[in-house]
Amino acid sequence: MVTLLEKPKHIRGGLHLDVNKAQSLQQPLRAAGVPEHLFIPLSQHIGEAAELLVEIGDEVLKGQSIARSPGYISAPVHASSSGKIVAIGDYPVPHPPGMQAPCVVIETDGRDQSADTGLRMDDVLDADPAEIRQRVRAAGIVGLGGAGFPTSVKLNTGTTRAVDLLVINAAECEPYISCDEALMCGRSKEIVEGVRIIRRALNARQVVIGVEDNMPKAVESLQLSLDEAGEDTIRVTPVPTIYPAGGEKQLIYALAGEEVPSQGLPIDLGIVCHNVGTAAAVARALLQGEPLISRVVTVTGEGVRQPANLEVRIGTPVAELIRECGGYTDKVARLLMGGPMMGFSLSSDAVPAIKTTNCILAASYRETPKTGAAGPCIRCSDCVDVCPAGLLPQQLYWYAHARDFDRIQDYNLFDCIECGCCAQVCPSHIPLVQYYRFAKTEIWSQESERQFSDMARQRHEFRIERLEREKKALEERRAKARKALKPKVGDATAKQAEITAALERVKAKKAGQSVVPRNTSNLTEEQRAKIAAADRRRSSTGGQT
Ligand code: SF4
Ligand code: SF4
Repeated sequence: MVTLLEKPKHIRGGLHLDVNKAQSLQQPLRAAGVPEHLFIPLSQHIGEAAELLVEIGDEVLKGQSIARSPGYISAPVHASSSGKIVAIGDYPVPHPPGMQAPCVVIETDGRDQSADTGLRMDDVLDADPAEIRQRVRAAGIVGLGGAGFPTSVKLNTGTTRAVDLLVINAAECEPYISCDEALMCGRSKEIVEGVRIIRRALNARQVVIGVEDNMPKAVESLQLSLDEAGEDTIRVTPVPTIYPAGGEKQLIYALAGEEVPSQGLPIDLGIVCHNVGTAAAVARALLQGEPLISRVVTVTGEGVRQPANLEVRIGTPVAELIRECGGYTDKVARLLMGGPMMGFSLSSDAVPAIKTTNCILAASYRETPKTGAAGPCIRCSDCVDVCPAGLLPQQLYWYAHARDFDRIQDYNLFDCIECGCCAQVCPSHIPLVQYYRFAKTEIWSQESERQFSDMARQRHEFRIERLEREKKALEERRAKARKALKPKVGDATAKQAEITAALERVKAKKAGQSVVPRNTSNLTEEQRAKIAAADRRRSSTGGQT
């Protein structure tokens, strides 16, 4: 059984970084305007892309489902405002290589008219957990901490084991990103409601909201809302500020002193972790009937005039958000989605904000993550000291560089959370995380190729088996038919008797009708004489007439 610590622990490794959150927290959280066009990607989550439900020319309402989830690990997509579908096709999406992907383009009508989504639930805190999960799924809610894993799946632990501890992750540890802090300060009531619903869905025994201790206002706001709700079974616990305290495994360690096993999941320990923004989204869906059509995004950096936190409609182009924040400054050097540690560069500001977009960083040259010519590894082990996952980053680098994908897994590559601490301290400026991502991608691709060829081989074997089965069945059917046609012994004798009788009749006919006795008693003498003459003639010609 997991027990919450009275005093949170320090995580292993990590870095003390300049947080740079004050810039975006100077203004209160506000709603961004609805743009003229929304570009809504069909895939904004981990799992299968959603399948289209609309066509070009369709009129849609805010909150209406425009794409459905085709599988268990997937999420539907909804119209973020009312308007008309004017295009469906490939458009730039926020993805590290700057790729394009299928999007639905809505020309908004300015009315922002809502659909009846049917998501709202009365007495949700007494509701059946399965019904809660079903509505969370229908609302298209995914983890808003950045991973984008479908929340309904995480609400279904798939085990009979009780959930000992629900951890609400509010330890927003990456520099510059302050969307969760803004949400906690501005909408703590919504968060508390969402946490209670999640607790109901999981039937969790204990609940804790973990907040970094450099966010006293957020802690105060949450505590106030808990008190107002008369909720004394949910704890708000400040954890030591250090990057990456907001990593799932790291936060669990800080709060409960438990280590999630290598390649394991928190549920293996009876723990489930949800992001604080996700909790607010769950409350909005089930209490107000609004699916996930917006989220809070931090727009910040020296490259934007008025950094702020905005409630943004999903599908709003980044360029619109920058405009909302006063436009670019002349210091802008690079546009990132996410923070400086784990974010990725955007090739253009035409890409839309999606469900997992927590921050747009318009970085100046000074704020840009350092890149440069990498030197050789000097085995200084600085990377080992800061690794929060207890890995050997230099060994991982070595095997990734050598493309030795078997050995690298022996060093627990998949426990790497890609926090970037190792690369940050590396004196040789080796882009270590890029090597790890490359190795992971290669392993996944080899694995899926292996699975694909296994499936192909299995399909081939099944086909051969089926053909042999069919051939055997055909032969059996034919043999049965032959057997049915073969005449029985009694039948053959009867047939032969019939043939013999027919031949006898023909033979008799040929032998002449004279053999047939005639009744001539009532004929005249003259008639009888004529018949006798004819008989004599027939017998002299061998019966031919
Ligand atoms: S910090 Fe860089 S140079 Fe030092 S051991 Fe790690 S990879 Fe090598
Ligand atoms: S990126 Fe991976 S290897 Fe590097 S410090 Fe973070 S967890 Fe460790």
